[in-house]
Amino acid sequence: MGKSQNHKVTEHIKLHGIIVYSLLFLFLFFQAVNSSQLFAISLNNDRNTYPLGSHLEVHEDSEKKYNINTIQNAPFIKPPDRGALNFGFTSSAIWARFKITIPPNNITQWFLEVGYPLIDKVELYMPDRKKTYTVKRYGDTFPFSRRDLEYQNFTFSLKTKPGTYTYYVRIESTGSISLPLTIHSQKKIIKKANNLQIFLGIFYGALTITMVVNLFIALYNRDKAFLFYSIYIVSFILVSLALSGTGFQYIWRNFPEINSMVPLILFICIFWVLMFTRAFLHTKDIIPDSDRIVLFLLAISILGVLASPFVPYSIGIRLGAFYVILLVPILLITGLVSLKAGVRQARFYLLAFSFFLLGSLITSLNRFGVLQSNVFTVWAFHSGTLLQVFCLSLALGDRINVLQEESETAQSKALEYHKQLADSLQRSDRLKDEFLNNLSHELKTPLQVMYSYAELIRDEDEKDPETLKSYGEKIYGNIDKLKTYIEDIVLITDLSSHPALNTTGINLSSLVNKCIDKYSKVISEKNLNINIGISKNTKIMADEKYMQKAIENVIKNAIQFNKLNGDIFFTAMAKKHENESDICISLCIEDSGIGIPPENIDDIWEKFYRVDNSLTYKVSGVGIGLFLAKRIIELHGGKIKAESILGMGSKFTITLRAP
Ligand code: ADP
Repeated sequence: MGKSQNHKVTEHIKLHGIIVYSLLFLFLFFQAVNSSQLFAISLNNDRNTYPLGSHLEVHEDSEKKYNINTIQNAPFIKPPDRGALNFGFTSSAIWARFKITIPPNNITQWFLEVGYPLIDKVELYMPDRKKTYTVKRYGDTFPFSRRDLEYQNFTFSLKTKPGTYTYYVRIESTGSISLPLTIHSQKKIIKKANNLQIFLGIFYGALTITMVVNLFIALYNRDKAFLFYSIYIVSFILVSLALSGTGFQYIWRNFPEINSMVPLILFICIFWVLMFTRAFLHTKDIIPDSDRIVLFLLAISILGVLASPFVPYSIGIRLGAFYVILLVPILLITGLVSLKAGVRQARFYLLAFSFFLLGSLITSLNRFGVLQSNVFTVWAFHSGTLLQVFCLSLALGDRINVLQEESETAQSKALEYHKQLADSLQRSDRLKDEFLNNLSHELKTPLQVMYSYAELIRDEDEKDPETLKSYGEKIYGNIDKLKTYIEDIVLITDLSSHPALNTTGINLSSLVNKCIDKYSKVISEKNLNINIGISKNTKIMADEKYMQKAIENVIKNAIQFNKLNGDIFFTAMAKKHENESDICISLCIEDSGIGIPPENIDDIWEKFYRVDNSLTYKVSGVGIGLFLAKRIIELHGGKIKAESILGMGSKFTITLRAP
């Protein structure tokens, strides 16, 4: 490498070094200018408000080791240019300083406003002539009456004598720290306080009216949802009063310790909003899975209520805030799920909580300095709340409509039911009358016959044993008829007390034959064709005494309502019982008789019912045969059904369990 080349390289490195050092110098210079030069704001009479955001310097004293004398030499930095400074939850003390110039022509009284009422301790160090500082201490741990102004935010009156002053503000809090510092003229701050009073009057007034109205509706309608909603509003008012500092200003001004109860009130408020959600959306009945989640959240809020008095404020408020952040989306999802499940009021619920969420979000973003302060962002939370209350009130109004509709339908249903009851009472009364008529006729006829034959035996000198025997048989036959009627009537009462059955495997074919034999005389008189297609081995599980009565009643009808030379078919089939492994036997009794009109086919099982036509009245009966048959079969766990074609015949199918 040549000498001249070496020289070039050295020159190059030198140049490079100069550039780097100059840049570094410039950077440090700007840093220094930026960090140390505090420009004074001149407070002129022609302006009313000076936001301090960009004129502030801050120092985070994490060990809390500085006092007003030492802090003046500590390094301060310029915070990023945002509307409000936010330090979140911090255990450090925050120092802020600003410089103001009061011009010689000043006629205004200036106030410093710390626009965040939930700070434990705010100290303003005011310079006096001797370059020493006097301190003014405020905070939500000191009684309200100490303050310079009747205003929920901390306000300090500033010096009015012309000159340039550097003020120091020291803030300490177990909750989150936010530093929206503004200087206002007296005129402006009074206007602000007045406007705020009007707005808060409307806000709390609307909430209180809604609460009272809902309470009345709750008492009137005995509806839990309304009651829980009223309690929720009360607890919400308390939370809002505490968070905005209004409660401290107007209600508990000499009891600053109530300010530290915010976590407790917050958990109580959450508890009631969950109770309201459950009652309002009927989660228990309609969306039980979501209901379990709501119950779990309820349990956590009860835990929060119980634990709050024993947990330090700084932890309690963090837990409460975290729980609210977690809760709002869960409530929105619950609303969505119940909307999907068809709950009509879920629409209002969703809308209400969306407003609330949006309002809270906007205000939080404003508090964190993401959104600029304006009427919309500052009051978004309150407006969201009012809209929420409005939507839920609409929803509750809608619910009144639903309740009214429900009560109207219930009323008309009750009326319908009463009408049906009256109709059926009338009908059973009529049937009973008919039954008594039929019965007296059915009892009178055999008695009359018996009486006549008994008279013949007594009065006539008939000695022929064959004739006497035939008289005896007539009397015996009629006694049998009477006995059957009396037995049937006794059986009605017997069956209503659910008698114990003695079920065994019974041969169906022999049971059917036994029943047919009882009516052999009528069968031959009518010349009926009896066809029995039942296998000799078919067995059913039944109590023989009762089952014989049931089948006999069906067979008796098939015979009595049959035409001359008619047919009766008996068939039995084994089949599997629906949904069960048991085998069942279906016995069919089909006749070619007069048939049953389709409109009466369902009535024939009713007690004392007889089809109202001349064909039926030709046959004796009182209308309890099929009623008893159905009762007995059902007592055995079986079924009976009827099919019929008028004028062609009827088919009765009895299904019973096989052994
Ligand atoms: P009844 O003592 O009148 O026979 P039931 O209860 O046995 O009483 O029958 C009720 C009514 O059903 C009968 O009066 C009759 O009108 C009708 N009925 C029952 N079985 C038959 C049938 N096989 N054919 C035609 N009508 C029938």
